[in-house]
Amino acid sequence: MAVPLAVLLKREHTSERIEKPDVLYGQASQSKKGEDFTFFKTECQRVPGDGSTTFSVFALFDGHNGSEAAIYAKENLLNNVLGAMPSDLSRDDWLGALPRALVAGFVKTDKDFQNLAHSSGTTVTMVIIDGWVVTAASVGDSRCILESAEGSMYHLSADHRLDVNEKEVERITASGGEVGRLNIVGGAEIGPLRCWPGGLCLSRSIGDLDVGQFIVPVPYVKQVKLSNAGGRLIIASDGVWDALTFDSALKCCHGLPADSAANQIVKEAVQVRGLRDDTTCIVVDILPKEKAVPAPAPHPKKHGMGVLKNIFHRKPSAKSINVKREYSEPDVVEEIFENGSAALAHRLDTGNAVQNMFKIYACAVCQVEIKPQEAISLHSCPSQPRKVVSPWDGPFLCHSCQQKKEAMEGTSCSQDFSSSSKSASSDSWE
Ligand SMILES: [Zn+2]
Repeated sequence: MAVPLAVLLKREHTSERIEKPDVLYGQASQSKKGEDFTFFKTECQRVPGDGSTTFSVFALFDGHNGSEAAIYAKENLLNNVLGAMPSDLSRDDWLGALPRALVAGFVKTDKDFQNLAHSSGTTVTMVIIDGWVVTAASVGDSRCILESAEGSMYHLSADHRLDVNEKEVERITASGGEVGRLNIVGGAEIGPLRCWPGGLCLSRSIGDLDVGQFIVPVPYVKQVKLSNAGGRLIIASDGVWDALTFDSALKCCHGLPADSAANQIVKEAVQVRGLRDDTTCIVVDILPKEKAVPAPAPHPKKHGMGVLKNIFHRKPSAKSINVKREYSEPDVVEEIFENGSAALAHRLDTGNAVQNMFKIYACAVCQVEIKPQEAISLHSCPSQPRKVVSPWDGPFLCHSCQQKKEAMEGTSCSQDFSSSSKSASSDSWE
């Protein structure tokens, strides 16, 4: 059951003092093709200059058909997501607006990259940690799991491999794509389900200009709040998940600090399968402040890339993370938000409370300002003549993002759910 964010945050404010967790992390990678990339930024600020508003970002990009898309996404995605966030928000509103901004940022990054006409593509798993709230957005099959302090496991990403995702096969087939296995001489079918043309086995990615626009960049987004007992995140590419179950990945690194844990997971994965693919893992521990026994000194406070290199080569410590169990709330992970729809109308029309934070006459995807007479309603149907635009027809897209939407979803209005939500959202403008 989803718990409203406001309720959770209120609970947080009323607890004796607002204590931010320590966020400790490590990564490890063994490269076969050189197409896995990682991204870390731990000192981001919601309010520039205000150190009490920091949040952390971790991301993994697993490229295919070259590494241009992975590198492009690594360099641009976070800026595009933050660029889609309204300014001057309270923390509650900022967290509430984040899922929509993630969708806009992913789609803008894909659109901008495709304009460069490179043919490569990439999976993306991006995790944003603000206090005890974790928001994950993903396309593709690099998975993110969470283990709570008491040992329960939660999926924070969806699997967009066609082989395991029937809904996505249906969506692609309905958009005109063909899904099937490779045919070899004699008619036998081999290998995973793939989308044709192109033969990609993922239903969502960033890039992939040559595969068909119905391979969409719209991320599955999940937002949860940990208890103040904390938890551990594992973000890893398919090189890890093709070799290890979620359980065995968690188990093989129990008790190790984050950097050794990441090393251990990659080591185990390569032992099981050999180095057949890029194999990358990020481990993030979200821990009650000063309750964790620190890893052997020197314990880096700031993880610059130079520092990371050193800690990766340190011998794994046998010392376990010893968390004192003095919690003021039950150790449960509460779900705040989850949406995996590929339809932009479902993702950008977010209902009154969130909608009203965003500028009405800015493109909901690329944020360019649009004149009211040029705004295209997210719910407009190309087969119907456009009516005079009023604020309650929003959110709006610019012409170029509307074209992108049509390419991804086709020109039918069947996926539109505007009638019910529109009557609700018009209230606030009357
Ligand atoms: Zn636009």
